[in-house]
Amino acid sequence: MTTAALPTTEDLRTRALTCLERVGATVPEGTGFQARTPITGEDLFRLAAATEADVEEALAATREAFLTWRTTPAPRRGELVRRLGELLRDHKSDLADLITIEAGKIRSEALGEVQEMIDICEFAVGLSRQLYGRTIASERPGHRLAETWHPLGVVGVISAFNFPAAVWSWNTAVALACGDTVIWKPSELTPLISLACDRLLDRAAEEVGAPRDVHRLLLGDRAIGERIVDDPRVALVSATGSTRMGREVGPRVAARFGRTLLELGGNNAAVVAPSADLDLAVQGIVFAAAGTAGQRCTTLRRLIVHRDIADTLVARLTSAYAKLPIGDPFDEGTLVGPLISTAALDAMHDSVARVQAQGGKVLVGGGRRLADTAPRAAYAEPVIVRVDEQTDVVREETFAPILYVLTYDTFEEAVALHNDVPQGLSSSIFTRDQQEAERFLSSEGSDCGIANVNIGTSGAEIGGAFGGEKETGGGRESGSDAWRAYMRPATNTINYSSHLALAQNVSFL
Ligand code: NAD
Repeated sequence: MTTAALPTTEDLRTRALTCLERVGATVPEGTGFQARTPITGEDLFRLAAATEADVEEALAATREAFLTWRTTPAPRRGELVRRLGELLRDHKSDLADLITIEAGKIRSEALGEVQEMIDICEFAVGLSRQLYGRTIASERPGHRLAETWHPLGVVGVISAFNFPAAVWSWNTAVALACGDTVIWKPSELTPLISLACDRLLDRAAEEVGAPRDVHRLLLGDRAIGERIVDDPRVALVSATGSTRMGREVGPRVAARFGRTLLELGGNNAAVVAPSADLDLAVQGIVFAAAGTAGQRCTTLRRLIVHRDIADTLVARLTSAYAKLPIGDPFDEGTLVGPLISTAALDAMHDSVARVQAQGGKVLVGGGRRLADTAPRAAYAEPVIVRVDEQTDVVREETFAPILYVLTYDTFEEAVALHNDVPQGLSSSIFTRDQQEAERFLSSEGSDCGIANVNIGTSGAEIGGAFGGEKETGGGRESGSDAWRAYMRPATNTINYSSHLALAQNVSFL
């Protein structure tokens, strides 16, 4: 099903300008690069990219601001984050519109992304009163051993197009509460929402009297990211994007002994056991696999189904896929919006063709919609492909709505298939067998950073730490104790006796 006619590029331009105006942001016009919308695939504005002088100034300013911000009491730092959260709440609708215009997310998911930003601000405000270390029993009489946590420095945030605002907020809200300052290099595909977020943080800083330079935005391409990666003034590089990007960023930051927090590609799977509640499974699978047009790092890409229920489940999924409303993401009835670019559509078609050459059978979808009305946009029909084995194509992340279906006979075989990919982000099992569920979550089960039972692979809450293993990069962001990546621990030994006792009973002098 294709939903109603698309808005015009002119309508989208006007709508974007209105949203930006309401948050108080302006478009820095220039010749650097184009802001475009995947809804029509056309250009919206020509923008100025940051110059080398801008990058240098931002690095120096955020480093300087760090020197005072780190001594501001953490609960006072939390006031800045609290105000940011309030402003995000006030402008939720405008921010969601900008996300839809630039990333093509359907309205409900764009609103969800902004809600996630509000949630992480609330979390970080609480965190600003909970940055605690441990007291450890000392082996020496009259001594106290303690662990204290200190701000780290400037955090460089490099972010991807598909969560153009939430990933910034996960990093920024926590980093600011921890006493760090932030430089942000967003995706070159989503500059407008970045301008809006940056302006709201500026406003929050003005209102609470925080230093102006606690944050900076640098618009532009990967060359700006590379400057941040190589600069020793940046203590932590938090980079979200493809595994290709992480492979470049990781060693470069390590070469200067900087820290990285890498959030990279996923190739997420769900195991569907014979005892599964199939109504639940179908809903969970369709949202995780086709939602966000398959452009979430946690998108469900592989379905590992028990042979006894494979035909029944696949029939239900193909029928649900055939009815998916595809089209204008602003239309309330749409569930699948556009892919980010025609290049992403080409990559999708290429993967499907290659897997077909390896014996894969397309069961539903795979076509293109709205090519006549919007030839520069990329509306893809989510596709299900049945495969007999986990070929090299299945083991890759193609950032598009392709769901590969594999079958299994034993639980051990399902787990082996599940873990036999280079990535390790998200996973799930649909089962009513408690033993099987617990085994999937145990150390002999899923090897991913996220492992779920009876829900899909996507749609995490901010309260838990988010991230994955293997080629996903090993980073953890957002909730739980992910804040520790933004601080440095120090171990303190305090002697309150009148004797100098050495550890391990060493005697000297
Ligand atoms: P991308 O790797 O093309 O770009 C991400 C960012 O990295 C952009 O800002 C880009 O300019 C910058 N960049 C690229 N090469 C760089 C380099 N050598 N040095 C410094 N900066 C560089 O990714 P994308 O297409 O925007 O996003 C999609 C990818 O991101 C998918 O692989 C997806 O799985 C992944 N992703 C992962 C997570 C996660 O939390 N694990 C979240 C969102 C997206």
